[in-house]
Amino acid sequence: MSTGKKEPKKPIKAAAKAPINAPGVKSLEPGPGQDALGAMLANALLSRGAAVPAADLLSTVDIPPVGDQRCGLIAIVGKPNVGKSTLLNALVGQKISITSRKAQTTRHRITGMRTVNATQFVFVDTPGFQTRHANALNRSLNRTVVGAVNDVDLIVFVVEAGQFNQADARVLSLLPEKTPAILLANKFDLIHRRAEIAPWLKEMQERHNFAEFVPMSANSSKDVERLFGICEKYLPLQPWMYGADELTDRSDRFMAAEIIREKLFRLTGDELPYTSTVLIDQYQEEGNLRKIAATIVVERDGHKGMIIGEKGEKLKRIGTEARHELEALTGGKVFLEIWVKVRSGWADDEARVKTFGYE
Ligand code: GDP
Ligand code: MG
Repeated sequence: MSTGKKEPKKPIKAAAKAPINAPGVKSLEPGPGQDALGAMLANALLSRGAAVPAADLLSTVDIPPVGDQRCGLIAIVGKPNVGKSTLLNALVGQKISITSRKAQTTRHRITGMRTVNATQFVFVDTPGFQTRHANALNRSLNRTVVGAVNDVDLIVFVVEAGQFNQADARVLSLLPEKTPAILLANKFDLIHRRAEIAPWLKEMQERHNFAEFVPMSANSSKDVERLFGICEKYLPLQPWMYGADELTDRSDRFMAAEIIREKLFRLTGDELPYTSTVLIDQYQEEGNLRKIAATIVVERDGHKGMIIGEKGEKLKRIGTEARHELEALTGGKVFLEIWVKVRSGWADDEARVKTFGYE
């Protein structure tokens, strides 16, 4: 049934560039008093620099001489659900990593890039480190995380502001000492008494030698812009690895599977175990039309019923929402067909996990 020979390799590209004029947050010097901490916090939270409309910048994209180019890898790590994928999408300026309230949404190493002036930021989103089940799928996800933190220029360790538990500690213990790490205290919008964060912050400084502390919200564009300025100084002078307007190295076919999986995760309740996956059987491009056939693989018959829903309603909705998003992403028409199949025990089976596209 697999006829999808033609897989477009075109990278997803930026429509326009947004400006970055963001001074970094000061490093947290060891031993500041509470007042100094408070002042630093206030300082960190000030949004600086007015945004220039993206259109103004389009005409001024100059590629700097290779010798002036800066480029580096930045790993975004943290336990599940702290906002890593939300952050990556905001940094890239387009959704390339799917998100949901479910903990195991990100399963692959997703690379997203953004080139700002002379600097190319190559961000690597990772699955959250899985500790709850020791099956083949989770072992694969964990290998992806460990692989991502070695060999990068900078690590952005994401936690929820004011929180730190065993799952965070587990990820923190994977960070190599030699690589600079920024502590990104995300979801700062949920903290109402900001002064109360100071003792927590001090505690975090004792846990690891963080280069900087950045309280912010991944869903605030001003905060996200500021982050570029903070990360830039850790990236080496070296030629860019990607084109100036490339946003991800993932194919359209991969994005299609991910978008369907996102709708599946978002539209089904907690009863549906995370061990469902999406395979693309066909991806054909005919002019402005894409014909996509996909299979949702589940572990049990009962799960199949949950996805299809009464009179096929649920599956229809998953298909419709995925199609709309794929049409927006590709700028063309999409014909999408989705099937549901049962493969019991796939997530426990190393070989199957591999054939389903996990590393
Ligand atoms: P990941 O598992 O770490 O990749 O987390 P996701 O990016 O999938 O986000 C998990 C949930 O947190 C989603 O429901 C996001 O909308 C939400 N979220 C992410 N960043 C923020 C933030 O800055 N503030 C708030 N309030 N919610 C956020
Ligand atoms: Mg994620």
